[in-house]
Amino acid sequence: MKLEGIHHVTAICADAPRNVRFYAGTLGLRLVKRTVNQDDPTVYHLFYADEEGSAGADITFFEYPGTPRGSAGEGMVHTVIWRVGSPGSLDFWGERLEREGFTAERSGDVLSFHDPEGLRHELVVYDGGERPLVARAPDVPIEHALQGFHGVRAYASDPERSRPLLEEHLGFEPSGPQQWLVAGEDRSGFYAYDEPPDTPPVPGAGTVHHVAFASRPEDHGRWRERALAGGAAVTPIIDRHYFRSIYFREPSGVLFEIATLGPGFAVDEPPERLGERLSLPPRFEPLRGRLEQTLKPLPDPRAERTGKVRS
Ligand code: ZN
Repeated sequence: MKLEGIHHVTAICADAPRNVRFYAGTLGLRLVKRTVNQDDPTVYHLFYADEEGSAGADITFFEYPGTPRGSAGEGMVHTVIWRVGSPGSLDFWGERLEREGFTAERSGDVLSFHDPEGLRHELVVYDGGERPLVARAPDVPIEHALQGFHGVRAYASDPERSRPLLEEHLGFEPSGPQQWLVAGEDRSGFYAYDEPPDTPPVPGAGTVHHVAFASRPEDHGRWRERALAGGAAVTPIIDRHYFRSIYFREPSGVLFEIATLGPGFAVDEPPERLGERLSLPPRFEPLRGRLEQTLKPLPDPRAERTGKVRS
C-alpha cells in the first residue's frame, strides 16, 4: 500500500476574482470546481487543476474576503513546486510572468515566483515518466503548460520529530536531507523541510492551509489506521463529495490530509462544463439562491484570453 503522491494543496486567498485571474489566467490552469467552503458555505472554495481535474495537479483556495496576508513559518508549507517539460518552458514562464507584472527569479533549472497574495511557487524541469497533467489554456502552448505537482516544502525546526510517522507509518521514502519521496504506482511527489524563519507563523492570505496526499479508495480506511498507529490525532473519514478525506497534524505541525482518488469533480457536473457554475454538495443545495446572491461574480480568463494567443 502506497500513497500516490500529492493529491491537492489548499491555500487561503483574500480576493477570489484576483485568484482566478492568476491561476486560471496567468498560470493557465483550469478552474475545475467553484464551490463553497464546506465548513463555512458563505465563502468560496475554488479548485484549479489540469483539464481533467486530476489529483496531482489540483491547487485549491478558501477565500476569506479581505483577510490579512499571512506569512509561512514553523509547521507550514511555504513553497509549492510544479513540473514543466523543458528549460524552454522556464523561459516561457519567466517571460510571461514578468509581462503580466510578476517578478520571476531564475536559478539554474528552477523558476520561482509568488502569487498576487504572496504564496511562493517554483517550476522545475521534470524528465521522469509520469503522465503530464496539463490544462489547455488558450494562450499557453501545450508543451509549456504546467504538468502537475512535483513536491512541497515546509518549515520545521526539528524535522526528526516527524521522521517516524512519515517513514514507518506513511511510507515516505528518504530521498535527501530532510526530504522524502511519496511514490505510488502511478504518481510521486516529494515532501521536504527547511529551517524556519525567525518570524512566527501567521496563517492568512497567501499561505498554505494543508497538503493532501493521495490514497487509492480501497486503502483509505487502512491509511487512517496507520496514521492512528503512528500517534496522529486523526479525524474520522469525512465525505467531501468529490473525494473522502482524513486530516491530522504531523509532528512538525503541518496539517496533512489523505484524500481518495475519486469519485472526482465530474460527480456533479459534466466533464466539459467543470467549474462553470456554482457546485454545491447536496446538503448546501437549499442555500443556493442566497449564496448566488452574495458570492462575488468571478471572471472567466479563458474566454478573456481566447484569440490572444502569442506565438
Ligand atoms: Zn483538502
